[in-house]
Amino acid sequence: MTRPGHGIVVGASWAGILAAHVLARHFDSVTVVERDALPDEPRHRRGTPQARHGHILWSEGADIVEALLPGTADRLLAAGSRKLRFQTDLVTLTSHGWQHRFPPRQYGLMCTRPLLDWTVRHQVLADGRITLRERTEALELTGDDRRVAGVHVRDVDSGSREVLEADLVVDASGRGSRMRRWLTGLGLPDVEEDVVDVGMAYASRMYRAPEGATELFPAVNVAADHRERKPGRFGVVYPQENGQWMVTLSCTRGGELPTREQDFLAYTDTLRDPLVKDLISHAEPLTPVSASRLGINRRLYPERLERWPDGLVVLGDSLAVFNPIYGHGMSAAARGAAALDEHLARPFGSGAAHRAQRAISAAVDDPWIMAASKDIAFVNCRNKARDPRLTGGATARQSFADLVAGRSIRSPEVSDMVTDVMSMTAPQSTLGTSGFMALLHADGMRPDLTEPPLSREELDLVGLSPRRAVGARGAAAR
Ligand SMILES: Cc1cc2nc3c(=O)[nH]c(=O)nc-3n(C[C@H](O)[C@H](O)[C@H](O)COP(=O)(O)OP(=O)(O)OC[C@H]3O[C@@H](n4cnc5c(N)ncnc54)[C@H](O)[C@@H]3O)c2cc1C
Repeated sequence: MTRPGHGIVVGASWAGILAAHVLARHFDSVTVVERDALPDEPRHRRGTPQARHGHILWSEGADIVEALLPGTADRLLAAGSRKLRFQTDLVTLTSHGWQHRFPPRQYGLMCTRPLLDWTVRHQVLADGRITLRERTEALELTGDDRRVAGVHVRDVDSGSREVLEADLVVDASGRGSRMRRWLTGLGLPDVEEDVVDVGMAYASRMYRAPEGATELFPAVNVAADHRERKPGRFGVVYPQENGQWMVTLSCTRGGELPTREQDFLAYTDTLRDPLVKDLISHAEPLTPVSASRLGINRRLYPERLERWPDGLVVLGDSLAVFNPIYGHGMSAAARGAAALDEHLARPFGSGAAHRAQRAISAAVDDPWIMAASKDIAFVNCRNKARDPRLTGGATARQSFADLVAGRSIRSPEVSDMVTDVMSMTAPQSTLGTSGFMALLHADGMRPDLTEPPLSREELDLVGLSPRRAVGARGAAAR
């Protein structure tokens, strides 16, 4: 049952499309305003430059999408996505060594962002209650500090302007959102903001994977060690649809990102292990290198404003962005959409938007603290956060995180709980429970791994020889 009324969503990417679907469950009409033209097949577009880099949709986000849009996972799998079971289907060199590939506990969906976005968007926009206004830019909000009444928009091609009226406006315009300015324009005070900027930069390239590797070979992740007092360097090889590997290389501030094709392979030599290099040395590159600097952690606190206008909520990257290395942005946005759905199911009178915003903001707290507290441990990180968890006692927090990381790679029980938290299916506070503390100090640790845990069949699949036979450098030696 929908109620009379009109919702507007600004932005038709991940958060905006989920929000449009949620609004259409409660209002009888929804308009989605998007600056870009949206491709009618899985293709890149200008407004989502991050789509050229490796993405994983953790189980928390995937489960929420499945609940909102049943059958999405099957559609993605049928189109060539991979369901990665953690920790079985991942070979990862963490800051503290190689992770044992323990039995599966959580999962993540992996494919290109254009495929993921298109699969979800295609279903959502089929709803007759939703109208898409492409090539239309939101300029500012209309209304006052008590109530947002709509959005002032501009047609990108003709330049013509108009006001669209709404009972509820959702800002899902991403990391470039002008929300702070829009709010002060309505006469509200400036919204508080925290920034932790480790200067993360990304370079990605698609390769043709060896036959069968995207189905049977694990995803690979070689991470930096924040304890080495130098810029962190990372590399991943992710299976994608159509037999492709997405190779994303990244670094913290000062790490000299390879933006040219001739530097891409050479950069893999600077990672803590040669596995990424070994995998792509003989693989055929399919695309040029795409580079971007989009790795900041930034969080707005709209819920802290004493007065919040009715008729407005902020969702997705507009509200909070996290260092992408942890893969939480889409799941956090999905959580926000689910929280909005819950609040719209109740009477939505005066003050309801503020209550919904508080719930949406609470949903980003775990990914925020996970990413920001890890990043402040890197050299050259610019920490402009006032969040007390990131200032005074941060060193103690980091020592505890190091203890957990060292145990998690060798204990299946610790790994299970950490994986629950990483996939956002369990709250971060799980890692402070007495049960978890007991596990941390229990025996039963597996031995340290000195080389990537790959089976003979897996090595054969990608044409590699066992390490010892080729004399490759082991992680422990580096
Ligand atoms: C390198 C990288 C890797 C990442 N990896 C992962 C990962 O592995 N897992 C994960 O969960 N997340 C990951 N993320 C985060 C993820 O990409 C974002 O969290 C997610 O795309 C946020 O979606 P959004 O809809 O909020 O914003 P966006 O995707 O940025 O979309 C904003 C939309 O609004 C439109 N728009 C902007 N301004 C206006 C305007 N004024 N009027 C109209 N339209 C407008 C834009 O064109 C765009 O379509 C990664 C991010 C980066 C940068």
